[in-house]
Amino acid sequence: MWTRESGYGVALVAATLTLVTSAPVASQDRPSSPPAAGPALEHPTAPPFVPMSLIRHKGAQTAVRRAAEGAVQRLERPECEAVFSDFTDKAGRPLAASLQALGQSGSAFFRTIVYADGAGLARCNDQGLVALTVPGSRVVFVCGRQFARDAFARPLHAEAVLIHEALHSLGLGEDPPSALEITSRVVARCIP
Ligand SMILES: [Zn+2]
Repeated sequence: MWTRESGYGVALVAATLTLVTSAPVASQDRPSSPPAAGPALEHPTAPPFVPMSLIRHKGAQTAVRRAAEGAVQRLERPECEAVFSDFTDKAGRPLAASLQALGQSGSAFFRTIVYADGAGLARCNDQGLVALTVPGSRVVFVCGRQFARDAFARPLHAEAVLIHEALHSLGLGEDPPSALEITSRVVARCIP
């Protein structure tokens, strides 16, 4: 139910974390051009995905947004989405069947998850913990500081962590399978 980081690269990350939090924000100050005359404007691409987040800490918020954006793109690929077929919920039902019952793809389900700040949770006092949720809950708590640090050091791992938590949101329990086992499976499927 929770995802730990290994402690790898922590000192380096702590020294350079400000680079993440002070990253420039793209500005759109230029006046927009008047709408073109003629047929209604159509947008061939879907609007960009913005994860639902209740996280106030800016660095953590940015880290979660980036990781979630990466994760949702990965889940749009069938070989990554197949990770939902690798696990079952506590009743033994494949997570892929739960998705089917919801009428949602893996990425569509992922988009419904809300990220909350776990800073007030005792579990987040564990410096090795980056994210946690309970099976079946679409609220994923992020231990902000740890998550931002881990995402900076290992951005692809952070994406895998959010997919790991999405599996819990769909009903996957833990121990068994171990947290490491779950993340390893996500990495194998989604981050080849
Ligand atoms: Zn877990």
